[in-house]
Amino acid sequence: MSYGLRKDFYQSKVWKDVRKTIWLKQNLLCNRCHKPVYVDGISDWIPKEKRRTGIVHHKEYLTDLNISDDNITLNEDNLEGVCKECHEKEHHQDMSTRKGYEFDESGNLIYN
Ligand SMILES: [Zn+2]
Ligand SMILES: [Zn+2]
Repeated sequence: MSYGLRKDFYQSKVWKDVRKTIWLKQNLLCNRCHKPVYVDGISDWIPKEKRRTGIVHHKEYLTDLNISDDNITLNEDNLEGVCKECHEKEHHQDMSTRKGYEFDESGNLIYN
């Protein structure tokens, strides 16, 4: 049931808008390795072979309890734009040992 909620959130317009704001603020650069990332509809000019997927990461991870809390989900202070590689590093540090977590094709962490 939590998966449905989070899926709805990631597909919501308000989330897409916030995501865009974050990327524009960061000039489409990963906040950790500073490489340019590809974001749908903003950076279509980046050649295909140079595209790294950009993911907006929640510093305080989304859970069933905070998924409806705009102060967590949409708070720019809680958001960080990173590339897919850096995002996986971040989560694998403490998620790899937890059962049931994996990434969907957009790089969002989901719980099965
Ligand atoms: Zn990076
Ligand atoms: Zn994340």
